[in-house]
Amino acid sequence: MNKGIYEVQVQGSFSSAHHLKNYKGKCERVHGHNWKVEIVVWGAELDSEGLLIDFTILKEHLKKVISVLDHRDLNTLLFFREANPTSENICLYIYKKMQSALKKYPVKVKCVTVWENEQKSATYSERIE
Ligand SMILES: [Zn+2]
Repeated sequence: MNKGIYEVQVQGSFSSAHHLKNYKGKCERVHGHNWKVEIVVWGAELDSEGLLIDFTILKEHLKKVISVLDHRDLNTLLFFREANPTSENICLYIYKKMQSALKKYPVKVKCVTVWENEQKSATYSERIE
């Protein structure tokens, strides 16, 4: 019996503006990024076709979630009025939305990574107790 865990990743991207509150530096001014997003889901059971989850399904859900962020000023979205729209908090936002979007599938979101550019990224994953 195979006791391993499978992981599946897909990527997406969006473009939006933001600024950081309570921050001293150039990021306190409104500016934009072409953000890249990667989500990793995991699970132990494959379906009868040998898939953990269809890439197409995973990509569609990710696309739907990040379309809400695309071509927006992130600071105007309710979630980011409470939480500064840092890469870290964008990860958390996508993580939560994807976790609920994937409820009916036998996978869990392992982590979400968001890149501001090629050199800078942040990742959110659930803490393992
Ligand atoms: Zn920025």
